[in-house]
Amino acid sequence: MTTDKVLDEDRFARIALIGLGLIGSSIGHAVRRAGRAGETSLAGHIVGHARSQATMDKALEIGFVDSVEADPVAAVRDADLVILSIPVGAFGAMAALIGPHLKPGAILSDVGSVKEAVVRDMSPHLAEGVHLIPGHPVAGTEFSGPESGFAELFDGRWCILTPPPGADPLATEKVTRFWQACGSRVEIMTPKHHDLVLAITSHVPHLIAYNIVGTAADLETVTESEVIKYSAGGFRDFTRIASSDPVMWRDIFLNNREAVIETLGRFVEDLTALQRAIRWGEGDQLEALFTRTRAVRRNIVDAGQETAAPDFGRSHGGDGDDGDSDSDSDA
Ligand code: NAP
Repeated sequence: MTTDKVLDEDRFARIALIGLGLIGSSIGHAVRRAGRAGETSLAGHIVGHARSQATMDKALEIGFVDSVEADPVAAVRDADLVILSIPVGAFGAMAALIGPHLKPGAILSDVGSVKEAVVRDMSPHLAEGVHLIPGHPVAGTEFSGPESGFAELFDGRWCILTPPPGADPLATEKVTRFWQACGSRVEIMTPKHHDLVLAITSHVPHLIAYNIVGTAADLETVTESEVIKYSAGGFRDFTRIASSDPVMWRDIFLNNREAVIETLGRFVEDLTALQRAIRWGEGDQLEALFTRTRAVRRNIVDAGQETAAPDFGRSHGGDGDDGDSDSDSDA
């Protein structure tokens, strides 16, 4: 996948990345790659900030930032674009800290997996003339930290922007062009709609994975070694999703409470119907559902959002080889 050509007007003199984990580091790599692919570099300078010195040192060593600042206020000073890539629960406090120091005309964006809560928590801290254009790249893996990022993470993936009513169209356009240059396709929707869509496509599936892995680990009739030994089946795919970062996912559920609870209600009802169909031997009902769900997967593959390779493209070269080539686990 090639990135869009970077034009002079797409360029940001100074980009501040607040949070240098999987997503922050991937943005840094993608920005650098966009600069190489186009005639103009996407950023004159990338400054990074993370909570720990160790993460900032690693970011500098890998080279996806030009400099780091232990003080987030120093990091955002004079930045044209500031992107928060920290857990959703930390947004309010961070916005309160940096908000008064953003320069007039600066764009504040983010990658948070929840959007209504993020807008609620950040908006009160922003001065007139600062443009809030929240975003969510629907791309990820189950890995965390500055070493897990890579430039191709966003290629062909959607990035959803949720500009608030009255947002400056030029700022929205600039953030759109930014994500396109990072390889993404961009869609615009309201925060509420975003949260509902992501509840069903990402948040509840993660909750189901956390739950089934927890249940299996707790089952008294099955020992833990059997769970590990026979995990080549569907269970293994659940464990991959259920290994996603605990703090990040705690914050997602606490901040998308309404949509998750609503979606879970539907899920529980449908699960109860399946339970009844199994109890009463209603095979036709089961088969009809499984046929419908198979078509859903085919549509996802056709849309280029999943590999058509068997077993998610895992190689089966030898015993214990799980060469997982598709470690996607979007938040
Ligand atoms: P990550 O790999 O765990 O990285 C989190 C980063 O945030 C780390 O650099 C961490 O610094 C920093 N951080 C945490 N709390 C902070 C605070 N209070 N102040 C300053 N820095 C802080 O997480 P991630 O996967 O990149 O996720 C970041 C955001 O992206 C989350 O909001 C998540 O919802 C969203 N998102 C994630 C995915 C995904 O699949 N992972 C996909 C799309 C969007 P230290 O390393 O020093 O602790």
